[in-house]
Amino acid sequence: MRSIQSDTAGGSGGSSPRGNTERVLVVEDEPALLRALEINLRARGYQVSSSATGETALAEAARRPPDAVLLDLGLPDMDGSDVIRRLRTWTAVPVLVLSGRAGSGDKIGALDAGADDYVTKPFSMEELLARLRALLRRDAQPSSRQVFTIGHCTIDLVSRSVTRHDGDAEPVRLTRTEWRMLEILLRSPGQLVSASRLLSELWGPGTEDRTYYLRFHMAGLRRKLEEDPPRPKHLLTEPGMGYRYQP
Ligand code: CA
Repeated sequence: MRSIQSDTAGGSGGSSPRGNTERVLVVEDEPALLRALEINLRARGYQVSSSATGETALAEAARRPPDAVLLDLGLPDMDGSDVIRRLRTWTAVPVLVLSGRAGSGDKIGALDAGADDYVTKPFSMEELLARLRALLRRDAQPSSRQVFTIGHCTIDLVSRSVTRHDGDAEPVRLTRTEWRMLEILLRSPGQLVSASRLLSELWGPGTEDRTYYLRFHMAGLRRKLEEDPPRPKHLLTEPGMGYRYQP
């Protein structure tokens, strides 16, 4: 039981009763349309960032990961589908395409690149907002948000991608076994995962004495993900017990 106080200073937790707190990144080079989108989204309580080019949009998405992206396909510096492909190397954020083109080929190309939905210009603002709400609802399902951070790396279990934010362009690639091991650990944040459980999940029963397998693959994960691999802060060893992901 907990008492309910009339204290208005807050601290009750939960989200604001009015408006959204979701951040939407709008990528559109047509000033009038961009302005209309910004006004309508802000009026409904969304936080809005906007970009008029693909490159600035990608930089903004990396700097402040949005909850959804509205993306014009015809941008001055690059094709919208290429923006999606580059986003998909590190994030599963919902992407709603604003297509101004007559043919269906570009929309199919955008969906193939990883877009989630599209509206064709000229679209009704109500339709666009309804599509956006649907995408955000879908993304709010507990099992679908699967992005974690280790050091300078963001790990997306859906797209199985790692993106690094330390300015180094060298991509991080994990092996199949590293992914499976990492996923088991990330799904139990802060909790000890025993060596025997990891071994039996990864290599099947009867492998519990092969803890050197785990040491080998854990060394690989730390080398790729930890800022200071010999002194890991997130992928921790519990001597004689197992491993722990410390968020
Ligand atoms: Ca355009």
